[in-house]
Amino acid sequence: MNSTRVRTRVAPSPTGDPHVGTAYVALFNYCFARQHGGDFILRIEDTDRARSTAESEGVILEALRWCGLAWDEGPDVGGPFGPYRQSERSSIYASYAEQLLASGDAFKCFCTPQRLEEMRVAQRAAGRPSRYDGHCLTYSAQEVAAREAAGEPYVVRLRVPDEGVCVVNDMRRGPIEFEYTSVDMQVLVKSDGMPTYHLANVVDDHLMEITHVFRGEEWVSSAPKHLLLYSYFGWLPPQLLHLPLLRNPDKSKLSKRKNPTGILFFREMGYLPEALINFLALLANAVGDGEDELLDLPQIVQRFNVAHVPIGGPVFDLAKLDWLNGRYIRERLDPASFLQRVQDWAVSPQRLTRIATLAAPRIERLSDLGPLLAFLFSGRLALTAQSFDSAKLDGPSIRCALSLSLTEFDKLATWNASTIEGVIARIAAALGKKPREVARPFYIAITGSPTSIPLYDSMELLGRDLVRERLRNALDLLGTPTKRELQEWESLLQSAEAAV
Ligand code: GLU
Repeated sequence: MNSTRVRTRVAPSPTGDPHVGTAYVALFNYCFARQHGGDFILRIEDTDRARSTAESEGVILEALRWCGLAWDEGPDVGGPFGPYRQSERSSIYASYAEQLLASGDAFKCFCTPQRLEEMRVAQRAAGRPSRYDGHCLTYSAQEVAAREAAGEPYVVRLRVPDEGVCVVNDMRRGPIEFEYTSVDMQVLVKSDGMPTYHLANVVDDHLMEITHVFRGEEWVSSAPKHLLLYSYFGWLPPQLLHLPLLRNPDKSKLSKRKNPTGILFFREMGYLPEALINFLALLANAVGDGEDELLDLPQIVQRFNVAHVPIGGPVFDLAKLDWLNGRYIRERLDPASFLQRVQDWAVSPQRLTRIATLAAPRIERLSDLGPLLAFLFSGRLALTAQSFDSAKLDGPSIRCALSLSLTEFDKLATWNASTIEGVIARIAAALGKKPREVARPFYIAITGSPTSIPLYDSMELLGRDLVRERLRNALDLLGTPTKRELQEWESLLQSAEAAV
């Protein structure tokens, strides 16, 4: 730690839709910084160039802004420790990688993917954990230089001690011990010269003078690698706290295949950001007996207490969120602010103009608008399995199409009518059907009726999260796919596309 001023950060990777877990982690870091009069930073961790997109970054920033968690420094607002986007800091990481190579704390690894795969197979067969075996550590300096001169590609790996124990002192869990023999010799720089998350994360936390890192518990196994890096550089590490993952009521990990997890889903469903943040804050710090659970952000900051964070995964109970949201609407919004919220939610002039243009050719009286458009202003639709009888497509094909679309929609870098149409067309081709036939059950699942205003525009307007939710509901009604079905359908799509 270089600084006594508290500095925390949230460091999302822009590789998908903003997850409610990111809001949870951000809230934590925000509260701690505010409580200590410190700084809260937003850093974009986009070292995975293949999966990171500018669109995802934009949506993450928009979602966190909607939550009301304002950051003091970040890619959009700047600050004295920038740039705040890792893809703009490559030269910084390169010099630190050089430093580690020079001190022998990292080494060049020339192993081919084939050799690494053979090593893994052998380790698995012997029942040993998968871990780099140190093969390239045996090369002399001359050998390394010769291979490099011959143009052999290499990665830079972290040197890990052969014995001993690393102790991660977690602020909430206390000391956690890791045998060094179980810590992998992590790749720090990829063969294209780009750093991995681990190197970039440590260098940035140090240079940005981050004093406390609150992050999800999925990162706890990375902590020993990070602590090694801090000690090799001779830096003091920040204090660490790994937050338990949010859980479904059945205690399974909150995942978007099963439940809504996107921050924007909550916005699309008409939750107020204050209610969502209040709800997340209660998961971190429950109130005492008789204390009111309705808390605004300053109150949340004031009563935030690291020592009271539960270690077991807090249950994400939507009924509780509904209740809180209802209370916010009733108790905290006067008519004018209520109206403003409704406008912000779904009837902004821009959205209404688009909706009106789509609806005008399809109505005879203005009063037809209500039934025609109700689905755009609703959360879940009241459907039954019988609602799909009019789909004129056989049951297995409907389930296959809906299920494949869930996976394929998640892969879309851009969510708009034409990318959505592209997915349906691909699924229709794989099923040997016309896109129009395959679109019918989607009409029912999304609009509640076999015909409506144009489907793909409607899906764009509703947003990916709400569409996912409606498709999932439809699948629940028609029969949740088994693992085997999912695999079969996936390979049906793949082989149909390979044959083209
Ligand atoms: N980029 C990581 C993420 O997406 C950040 C992990 C950390 O906070 O160190 O969650």
